[in-house]
Amino acid sequence: MEPLHLKPLPALSDNYIWMLHDDLGNALVVDPGQAAPVQDALHRQHLELRAILLTHHHPDHIGGVARLRELTSANIYAANDPQIELATHRVTDGDRIDLDAPQCSFAVIAVPGHTLCHIAFHGQDLLFCGDTLFSVGCGRLFEGTASQMLASLDRLAALPAHTKVCCGHEYTLANCAFAKTLEPGNEALQARCESARHLRDAGLPSLPSLLADELACNPFLRIDEPSIIEAIDVGATDSADRTSRFAALRLRKDEFRG
Ligand code: ZN
Ligand code: FE
Repeated sequence: MEPLHLKPLPALSDNYIWMLHDDLGNALVVDPGQAAPVQDALHRQHLELRAILLTHHHPDHIGGVARLRELTSANIYAANDPQIELATHRVTDGDRIDLDAPQCSFAVIAVPGHTLCHIAFHGQDLLFCGDTLFSVGCGRLFEGTASQMLASLDRLAALPAHTKVCCGHEYTLANCAFAKTLEPGNEALQARCESARHLRDAGLPSLPSLLADELACNPFLRIDEPSIIEAIDVGATDSADRTSRFAALRLRKDEFRG
């Protein structure tokens, strides 16, 4: 099997369009919020765009699809979401996407919460999770409930620990600032914050991150940890309920001003 190369293409203010390509000139992209960064990468590396995978309907994730559709013959995979008009293939939880070029295969995982029709793609030890799971954080609840988002994150957390997490945004440092207020003594978190700082100072993406690191650092994947339960401090009744803890944690992040 051809080796695959993964590249985050910076787009808009802090988005990443993830590109995966082989050595035979075939590429796919995930969540092209703009066409230009994709066109540039395709030209520079003499690649042809074969597929576009979309996680959810927000403009910063699909804004470049129409233009790329005009310029290429890429198949477009998306959930059955009326707000995503340009799809050639509708996919749902449990589906597999098998591509010949680049040769790869992804399982579709429904991850409602940020939006109701949000999906993630898992394959080749990669997870493309859009705005559901961020490094050291998670997406805002624009459409779904805390309980839906928590169930979605639980499913992603159960993937193999060596999975590379390819998120939709460069939010790691801001997320680290918040997470440190909750677990100032978490050494894995300190190490992740430091490595992210070095990468960003060097002008590099802090992503992908390793799921194992997220399990050790990300407060939204750690709501059953005594340190996080104590830090959230929602009172004895609510504290026993993980959805209440998650909702309180998400609310606190919404209100956090680093
Ligand atoms: Zn979004
Ligand atoms: Fe986004």
